[in-house]
Amino acid sequence: MALAGVDTLLVSVGSDLPYLTGYRAMPLERLTMLVLPAAGEPVLVIPELEVARVTPHEAFTIRAWSETEDPVAIVADLAAGSHRAAIGDQTWARFVLALDAAMPDAALVSAGDLMSALRRCKAADEVRRLRAAAEAADDVIARLAEMTLSGSAERAVAREITEMMLVAGHETVEFAIVASGPNGSSPHHEPTDRLIEPGDAIVVDIGGRRDGYCSDTSRTFHVGRPDPAYARAYEVLQRAQEAGVAAVRPGVPAQEIDRAARAVIEAAGYGDRFIHRTGHGIGLDPHEAPYLVEGNDEVLAEGMSFSVEPGIYQPGGWGMRIEDIVVVTADGVDRLNTSDRRLYIVG
Ligand code: ZN
Ligand code: ZN
Ligand code: ZN
Repeated sequence: MALAGVDTLLVSVGSDLPYLTGYRAMPLERLTMLVLPAAGEPVLVIPELEVARVTPHEAFTIRAWSETEDPVAIVADLAAGSHRAAIGDQTWARFVLALDAAMPDAALVSAGDLMSALRRCKAADEVRRLRAAAEAADDVIARLAEMTLSGSAERAVAREITEMMLVAGHETVEFAIVASGPNGSSPHHEPTDRLIEPGDAIVVDIGGRRDGYCSDTSRTFHVGRPDPAYARAYEVLQRAQEAGVAAVRPGVPAQEIDRAARAVIEAAGYGDRFIHRTGHGIGLDPHEAPYLVEGNDEVLAEGMSFSVEPGIYQPGGWGMRIEDIVVVTADGVDRLNTSDRRLYIVG
């Protein structure tokens, strides 16, 4: 904060607050905000009815506000004298605007870079929790490989996956993408009532939170044997994903991971069918810095965790994606997902 010339940090809903305090606020219209001065005591301003959900910690004090108080005035009062206040990226616009009006002497700037600098390299305990989340996702993939998918609606399979994710140890399920046949060509497809049929490829992409940290894994299934064209593309995809993972080590610019995976897909003639970046950071949020994309020359460092998830998409025809979460180690890469990356042939 001193380096950025920031004298107060204002953190509301989203993952910055649990990172700093262990408490994840509900995204409510009632304001919750940690007021953290560069010099002085941090105070968590919180609706009175939510206080019971906070585990008290010596690092901050709690200022509960009752239903008839004005929380914006309380925050402005605590931050009085600030000239430059950094505010969390996910703070509701109505509170940003109200605080801006209530703090005429302070410039409000984004806290995004400050918080991201803290959060992007994971400590050993965070890696342990990411690994546990990845293991839970891998469990679900293994169970799915034993199931008959043909004849079921995408939505029904997604419901079963959701249940399996909770049983495997996730406390919340963030998404369960089941994209069959032509729906597979839309990377973030929402499951529909479409019935899975023989000959379909099915892209499954699942993510949830375990012990606060996120899982995010994709595997591709196929009802019966694929035709030679699909099988060939899948073999390319598998090599591309391996090349992406193999390129991960400290000191390498993030965009090099994208280049390594994309080069394999381009060389095989599918370059225009790989329509998204190769990956995204992951931690308390399912998508966070660093992003593995052309143009990001940010250098990878030990502890960074992110997905490596190339895909190939034939518009109106089919899709395929392989996604693992990896962590940068002192001299290379640690792949947290261990489930088989083959094309899963199912009934
Ligand atoms: Zn995604
Ligand atoms: Zn995913
Ligand atoms: Zn992902």
